[in-house]
Amino acid sequence: MSRICVYSGSSFGASLEYATVAAAFGRACARRGLTIVYGGGCVGLMGALADAALAAGGEVIGVIPRTMIAEERAHKSLTELIAVETMHERKQRMAQLADAFVALPGGIGTLEEVIEVFTWLQLGLHFKPVGLLNVGGFYDLLLEFLAHMRDQQFLTSKHHSMLAVSTDVEALLDQLITTKHHHVTKPVSHATTNAA
Ligand code: AMP
Repeated sequence: MSRICVYSGSSFGASLEYATVAAAFGRACARRGLTIVYGGGCVGLMGALADAALAAGGEVIGVIPRTMIAEERAHKSLTELIAVETMHERKQRMAQLADAFVALPGGIGTLEEVIEVFTWLQLGLHFKPVGLLNVGGFYDLLLEFLAHMRDQQFLTSKHHSMLAVSTDVEALLDQLITTKHHHVTKPVSHATTNAA
């Protein structure tokens, strides 16, 4: 694994702990020689992550739509800033560049991005590890909901267990590095109601 895609909030969130952990995650990637691929922003946890990784001598690649660069939302000192035309192109490019995906705390942008790559893993469109950094239990409610989906048989146990989760930066990175996924077909269930 040489490049890790990190999704995170464009805000700082309500607790200082979020920025502290985003910076720790950036430094940990730099120390391990992992290049960060992310949304290219200079704000919130995204900025804290990129600043800390760069300050620790790490490489950071940003992928950002041209419109956001025009709005001065791009980080100006990245190793590389890739300009794309659309949000869809951005997500695809980030996914192509990375060997693994992680979500730090964030809002709906972060949620949408990580759930999309988890969906692609379920479909066998890639076999790259996907994880959540559950800082201070931030993702507990989402994890509860995913367990509910599994219990209600909308998500198989196999696919459910493919999501790596840890509250600890180093433990999550260790987990992602050692994970090897292979394709598990999502079963197609046929109607079992007595509607007829
Ligand atoms: P959110 O979690 O809603 O704050 O959105 C953060 C995610 O959406 C990031 O992982 C980015 O890919 C993207 N994003 C949202 N806002 C920005 C921004 N101002 N600059 C760059 N990327 C952003």
